[in-house]
Amino acid sequence: MGYDSSNIFAKIVRGEIPCDKVYEDDHVLAFRDINPQTPTHVLVIPKGEYQSYVDFSQQASDLEILAFTRAVGRIASDLGLDEPGYRIIANHGRDARQEVPHFHLHICGGEDMGRMIK
Ligand code: C5P
Repeated sequence: MGYDSSNIFAKIVRGEIPCDKVYEDDHVLAFRDINPQTPTHVLVIPKGEYQSYVDFSQQASDLEILAFTRAVGRIASDLGLDEPGYRIIANHGRDARQEVPHFHLHICGGEDMGRMIK
């Protein structure tokens, strides 16, 4: 199935729906999750049309991947999360319950989140 440009994050990128923006550059947009699961919960998305991590990692240009990777680290630092730490999550597909079909990373922190991988 191809990318569906009517998804909510595509609308946010196009400026059709507002967001609580924390970072933006030519290739990347980051905003606070509307339903935060931790005290700090930010979503980072590429502006390009990629449905999943696989699509992004295989189809995006080197420049987009570099910009995205650098932005994620920078945003986490700027949010003051380097200490005591944070978690980065990408949900892919049905079993991970991905809701929005535009690739995104969740940056979560601000509390002890326990161990996820036992
Ligand atoms: O990874 P997944 O697709 O399940 O997560 C989508 C996330 O997007 C949810 O955490 C949801 O709260 C968030 N969301 C948002 N703003 C919207 C719609 C969804 O922050 N307008």
